[in-house]
Amino acid sequence: MAIVALICIFVATRRARAQEEKVPTSAHGVFVVFLGTGMPRPDPGRQGPSLAIVANGKAYIVDAGVGVVRQAAAAYVRGISALQPPKLDIAFLTHLHSDHTLGLPDLIFTPWVMHRVAPLQLYGPSGTQAMVDNIEKAWAEDIDIRIHGLEHNTTSGHKVVVHEIQPGVVYQDANVKVTAFAVLHGSWKEALGYRFDADGKSIVTSGDTRPSQSVVDACNGCDILIHEVYSGGGNGKSKAGDAYFSSFHTSAEELGEIAAKARPKLLVITHYVPRQNTDQTKMLEEIRKKFSGPVVVANDLDVIAP
Ligand SMILES: [Zn+2]
Ligand SMILES: [Zn+2]
Repeated sequence: MAIVALICIFVATRRARAQEEKVPTSAHGVFVVFLGTGMPRPDPGRQGPSLAIVANGKAYIVDAGVGVVRQAAAAYVRGISALQPPKLDIAFLTHLHSDHTLGLPDLIFTPWVMHRVAPLQLYGPSGTQAMVDNIEKAWAEDIDIRIHGLEHNTTSGHKVVVHEIQPGVVYQDANVKVTAFAVLHGSWKEALGYRFDADGKSIVTSGDTRPSQSVVDACNGCDILIHEVYSGGGNGKSKAGDAYFSSFHTSAEELGEIAAKARPKLLVITHYVPRQNTDQTKMLEEIRKKFSGPVVVANDLDVIAP
C-alpha cells in the first residue's frame, strides 16, 4: 500500500506542478502539451488522442483526435502561444484508426478559417493521402464557398501536403529531428511511433501498440516515454475482447516490462483503457511490478517538460 500511496502522491504533485507552474511557454526549450488523452470511448473529460511537442516556440502535433483544435485553443488561452490555431501547420499521424483521425478535418479546415495561409504539412503512414483526398471531397462545397463567397479565405490554407513515410528520420528543422519507427498494432499494416529530439532532450511517443521492441530501441534511456496502456480483462470473461487487446494494445504489466527495458527518465501514460473492474491505482501497481522509475498519468491540457 505504501508504494501505491507514493505513486499517487507523485502523480498528484507532478500534475499539480504541471498546471501551476507558468509552464515553459517561452520561445525556448521543449515540452509536451497533452491535447487529448482519451481513446475511442466518448469520455466527456478526455478528448481524442492528440498531443503537441512544442520546441523552440513551434508546435508539432501528433495525432488528430476529436477536439484537437479546440484543445490547442485552450492551451493558447493558458499562455502557450505556439498553439494559437492559425499557427498549427505541421502534424504527424501514428496510424489511421478513427480515434486518432476524427479531428483531421478540424486540423485541416479550422486553422484555415482562422486565417492560416500555409498548407498543413501532414506526415503519416500509407493511406494518409487517400484519407485527405476524401476529406477534401467531402468538404468541397464548403471550400468553394469560403474561397469564392464573402469570406474571401485564402486559396492555400486549406491545402494539405501529405508525406507518406517509412521508418527512419522523417523530418528535421532548426528545432527538432523527428524519427518514425514501426510498432505492432493488431491488423494495421502500418502503425508508427515517433521520437522527437530537441534542445538536447528526447521524447518518444508509442502511438497505439502492443509490446514492441521498437519502442524500447527508440527510447533507450530517453527523457520522456509516452505510452498507451490498458488494464483489467484477461479473466476469460471476454475472450474476443482479450484477443483484441493482446493483439492491438499493451497491458499495464507488459508496459512495466517495456519501460524497464526502455529506461525512460519519465514514463507518461495516455490513451488509458480501463477494462472491467479496474482503475488507475491498480494499473499503476501493475506497471510497478517491473518498472521502478517515475510514472505519471497525463490528463487533458497537462504540460510536461523533460
Ligand atoms: Zn487509439
Ligand atoms: Zn489504434
